[in-house]
Amino acid sequence: ISGEPTDDEVEAFASDRALRPQSFDDFVGQAPLKANLKVFVQAAAARKEALDHVLFYGPPGLGKTTLAQIVAKELKVGFRATSGPMLAKAGDLAAILSNLEPNDVLFIDEIHRLSPQVEEILYPAMEDYVLDLIIGDGPAARTVRIDLVPFTLVGATTRAGLLSQPLRDRFGIPLRLEFYTPEELVRVVMGTGRKMGAVMSEDGAFEVASRSRGTPRVAGRLLRRVRDFATAEGAEVIDRKVASRALARLEVDPSGLDQLDRRYLTAMIENYNGGPVGLETIAAAIAEARDAVEDMIEPYLMQQGFIQRTPRGRMACARAYMHLGLNPPANGSI
Ligand code: ADP
Repeated sequence: ISGEPTDDEVEAFASDRALRPQSFDDFVGQAPLKANLKVFVQAAAARKEALDHVLFYGPPGLGKTTLAQIVAKELKVGFRATSGPMLAKAGDLAAILSNLEPNDVLFIDEIHRLSPQVEEILYPAMEDYVLDLIIGDGPAARTVRIDLVPFTLVGATTRAGLLSQPLRDRFGIPLRLEFYTPEELVRVVMGTGRKMGAVMSEDGAFEVASRSRGTPRVAGRLLRRVRDFATAEGAEVIDRKVASRALARLEVDPSGLDQLDRRYLTAMIENYNGGPVGLETIAAAIAEARDAVEDMIEPYLMQQGFIQRTPRGRMACARAYMHLGLNPPANGSI
């Protein structure tokens, strides 16, 4: 169960935007981040200026896109969304920038995947609201400067480390999203359940929440599947038992780890003696892409103390052994 949206989710959410929180008050969790962001948004709105550029970073599914939309709504300005891989040429970005209304929010997802040419024209746009375009080529080429309206760039990335330093420096408001606590996720699950029209008890919501890897997108996905099982069983209320049965069938264990997580831990312990093992090696061992392992599997395992990153590679912690019903080695395991 990854934090990345699947294709049908992208569609489901495109057609059912109502499920997304629409305001800061509606948005559960991320309290310190939200408190600061609210102040900056209110100040910019009061001065009728564009908000400074914002960078949201953290694992997938924690609410970066949702927060970007909320920022635009609270500022009462327009919202345009695109992503790093979609902006292939400098002209693609120039077209979007020159069509913005004053103080609009431009959201660029996966901003670490911008091409260097596009990044190049982004710098003066972010700093001085101008576009420096090269017209023609060869000896006849010349630079044209075009003025833009003030705007706010909201960037999102799962990999702040991959952003070039000059790009990172141009975000006045860098904000890191954290995994949600089970209590926060209960509120997310109850809220989403209500909007979906699913009747659930608090302990049913807790069962889903505690197995959602601290991630609202995973919570939403598990909730939809649990609701399917409840419907099939003819259960009117999703309580703890109904939820727990459904989650067992989905092979999500009580710690929220799925098959892939368990394969990762098993490979590390059985094939590599619990590590240290390099990222490439472990990714190859479980036949997954390196990026997927680093973005989706490891952050939660690390946050929960199943694995640790050391200069020599990844290592399994005692909790990983115990989770798989094995004895941690007496020497050296952490
Ligand atoms: P990201 O951009 O970080 O990958 P999204 O903003 O797309 O994550 O959120 C993923 C899903 O989780 C969306 O369906 C969104 O509605 C839901 N979600 C995220 N954060 C919250 C929250 N704080 N409260 C309720 N739902 C949330």
